[in-house]
Amino acid sequence: MKVSRIVIGTHNYKKREEIRDILSGIPVTLLDLEDFENPPDVIEDGFTFEENAIKKALELARFCKMYVMADDSGLEVDALDKRPGVFSSRYCGEDAGYEEKCLRLLAELEGVPFEKRTARFRCAIALAEPDKLQFVVEASCEGLIDTEARGKKGFGYDPVFYVPEYKRTIAELGSEVKNRISHRALALGLFRKSLIEIIK
Ligand code: IMP
Repeated sequence: MKVSRIVIGTHNYKKREEIRDILSGIPVTLLDLEDFENPPDVIEDGFTFEENAIKKALELARFCKMYVMADDSGLEVDALDKRPGVFSSRYCGEDAGYEEKCLRLLAELEGVPFEKRTARFRCAIALAEPDKLQFVVEASCEGLIDTEARGKKGFGYDPVFYVPEYKRTIAELGSEVKNRISHRALALGLFRKSLIEIIK
């Protein structure tokens, strides 16, 4: 099957914007999951980001009958034994908003000195066609969990993720910097390279 179109397998429009922005210029048409009627909600029950990304890409590719790229991402905090990890979107329950999740994280880390608040965002991205995985890539972005939420840009844990190099949270930095340094940006860089290899 020739790779001329790829469906971005996510309902998260913030992620989708980042993916479209970072992959702009690739010689492939990107479609959204919203272009399909009733796509399945894939259950993310893997133990790693990679497992979940592969599962999502394969199930959605089967449904869409097309190439699908799927990302699974989340936050690992060292002082919390790498929680919330693959449960990042379900931290404090499926229905909790991003603000509640950030506040809960700050509460869990209360009293932990700044230098021990090390953390990383991780992102795995898989490309699959129906019943065949093409490849999976993974990358991470290191930082610290700040002592309070700062900034309004981005989504998820961006307001509490402090990037030492810029002395700001990702939510203060905004998309121009985020889309160069983030876990998703780095994984998409690897994705782009692997994709170019298979469409050459
Ligand atoms: P999933 O990949 O859709 O399972 O969701 C991962 C969860 O991790 C999101 O709901 C966010 O809470 C968090 N997350 C993933 N990527 C980012 C990011 O770029 N910034 C902030 N939070 C993120």
